Amino acid sequence: MTDIIIIGGGIVGLATALQIKRRRPDLSVTVLEKENRLAAHQTGHNSGVIHSGLYYKPGSLKAVNCIRGYRMLLDFCDQEGVPYELCGKIVVATKPEQVPQLNNLFERGQQNGLGGLRKLSGAEMREIEPHVNGVEGMWVPQTGIIDYVQVCEKYAENVRKLGGEIRLGEKVTQITAGNTLSVVVTDKATYETKLVVNCAGLYSDKMAQLTQRGEIDLRIIPFRGEYYKIRPEKHHLVRNLIYPVPDPNFPFLGVHFTRMIHGGVEAGPNAVLAFRREGYRKSDIDLKELFETLSWPGFQKVAGKYWQTGMGEMYRSFSKAAFTKALQELIPEVREEDLVEGGAGVRAQACDRRGGLLDDFAILESERAINVCNAPSPAATSSLSIGLTVSEKALARF
Ligand SMILES: Cc1cc2nc3c(=O)[nH]c(=O)nc-3n(C[C@H](O)[C@H](O)[C@H](O)COP(=O)(O)OP(=O)(O)OC[C@H]3O[C@@H](n4cnc5c(N)ncnc54)[C@H](O)[C@@H]3O)c2cc1C
Repeated sequence: MTDIIIIGGGIVGLATALQIKRRRPDLSVTVLEKENRLAAHQTGHNSGVIHSGLYYKPGSLKAVNCIRGYRMLLDFCDQEGVPYELCGKIVVATKPEQVPQLNNLFERGQQNGLGGLRKLSGAEMREIEPHVNGVEGMWVPQTGIIDYVQVCEKYAENVRKLGGEIRLGEKVTQITAGNTLSVVVTDKATYETKLVVNCAGLYSDKMAQLTQRGEIDLRIIPFRGEYYKIRPEKHHLVRNLIYPVPDPNFPFLGVHFTRMIHGGVEAGPNAVLAFRREGYRKSDIDLKELFETLSWPGFQKVAGKYWQTGMGEMYRSFSKAAFTKALQELIPEVREEDLVEGGAGVRAQACDRRGGLLDDFAILESERAINVCNAPSPAATSSLSIGLTVSEKALARF
């Protein structure tokens, strides 16, 4: 019998395992990960940005966990020797009509307790990023860059040191809740456990569904984010991180330029509906999963609401010229030939039946399970804080 089984060896599952073992080393904890390596999905395909907490509604789980998690992440990396750089970022209003939204962000950042935010004129922005085009901007000194796969490896190392087990290449296929224990079946073994903690990312809704009787009221909608890499001879166009003012009606931040911790500069990610949950290529399609997405009543409402933005994103996905044009809003000197195709990531975005894309992190509890059902960006930055929150919920049951 295992006290706690955690499904998912991404950054949230590993941080949760670590926070549980730190507090209760006597409890047995096993992480089950279906892939043969850690961080194989969202965590290993993200932008590698340490977010400051600028964007999130004050008091929301995103705001609280991002700000607390930011500090916890940096302390962990300092102790464990994981490299990171706090290079700061600029947010750029390229048109006068974006300035009110930039000002809202500035106020929000202050409400979230970020010190050192600075409004920038066009000339001041160009002192920081000489090739940027914009009417006004904002300097965010806290933002940084990191390799989240490396962070996960260190979390895992610490989990193992504390006696936790991490089993790779084991896919959970069935969960049956009994009166006192649950039975978790994988493609390799069967476990009995007192508590299931579901951190399965793109499949968190499926796992949540296995842990309870009635139908759960949300579905994960997969949104692919595609990147281009900037050719080395054009790296000088971007010193650090350059972000647009996000569209307040769309849950993603908009394509941006990111200097990566191991060198190189990426541009992206866009946000297009993925036709498969772990579909990293445009051609990837899983008819069953696609049908599940399209037939979800909430998705149909989302599609109705965002169809124009969605079509634009889809067009930019297939047309490099259109993608380049979006990037030129921020850096007019970027040319199509400066961009080479990079990787892609797929975001797990929960959507409820009524058509709301869940804006905040969501943790659903049932009798024998805790389900982390919406952990999109900035969940990597916030991982130790989310892990602490989940561990408190878990340990309250022991
Ligand atoms: C394109 C993109 C850019 C992003 N940029 C940033 C950023 O710069 N900064 C930031 O803070 N956040 C960023 N994010 C968000 C961040 O990466 C995610 O919020 C975070 O990685 C979520 O971690 P997770 O552990 O919940 O999910 P995942 O990393 O997806 O892990 C879930 C794991 O569960 C496993 N699993 C699923 N089903 C099963 C099963 N049945 N049995 C066993 N295992 C299973 C999967 O294989 C997977 O490894 C970005 C995300 C994307 C996609």
